[in-house]
Amino acid sequence: MWNEGAAALRAAGISNARNEARWLLEHVLGAPCGPFGAQAVPAALCRRYRAMIERRAKRVPLQYLLGSVEFAGIVVKVTPAVLIPRPETEELVELGRRWLEQRRWARRVADLGTGSGCIAIALARELPEIECWASDSNRAALRVARENARRNGVAERMHFASGSWFESWGAEIHFDMIITNPPYMERGARVEAELGYEPEEALYAGEDGLDAYREILPEVPRRLNTGGIFLGEMGAGQAAGMRGLACASGMGEVEILRDAGGRERFVKWARRAEK
Ligand code: GLN
Repeated sequence: MWNEGAAALRAAGISNARNEARWLLEHVLGAPCGPFGAQAVPAALCRRYRAMIERRAKRVPLQYLLGSVEFAGIVVKVTPAVLIPRPETEELVELGRRWLEQRRWARRVADLGTGSGCIAIALARELPEIECWASDSNRAALRVARENARRNGVAERMHFASGSWFESWGAEIHFDMIITNPPYMERGARVEAELGYEPEEALYAGEDGLDAYREILPEVPRRLNTGGIFLGEMGAGQAAGMRGLACASGMGEVEILRDAGGRERFVKWARRAEK
């Protein structure tokens, strides 16, 4: 079975064909498939496996077929309603975690465009004192995020809201940290076929990829407590645009940080006391 699946994926041009075929087989079997994957597989499971291989050959992302992904130390359920959490975003969580860990007074975290909930939930898992406000305009995504919060045992410290960015929170609600991985791809960017299965509104943000930040940044100074921090993920090549937007939003200087691959990837702004 394993060989057959691997051959089909290889023929479809999938580079990690052997491993992927094995992971899908183990997923269908619900158990490790042995060193050669040669055991007899009941007919019904065979059919399920072949159907999965067929979908993967059509470039449905592996993570949607498996139904979950490991992210920053937690397991996150994913469906086509949510963006598949990316490794760069684990680095964003790590930046947030380190900042919060050193400032035990900081309790209130906002995660804008939470999708699967991965950022807020990973932070809440690590830091038992914090409470997270997480918003998303897609209700189907919020259902997934709620379930992920329950599965990871942090549901009572999460406040999910349906709406875009800060929209559903009264003006009196302020945060010690605002963290976000909004859509930031340029419309029409050339991408691998798998992205065609992910929610468009989670990926693209206008001509230059900065439309989401055009909406978010002007609100940030109003929503962040003094001493608080804003952390966002962005695309390589967006640093200049981001600096301009931040300036126009009354944030002044922002810091741009690189990801593990050396690309400019994160924007950071600390709200200092007014002089
Ligand atoms: N916050 C979620 C993530 O980082 C969703 C992001 C998005 O949909 N753009 O995976």
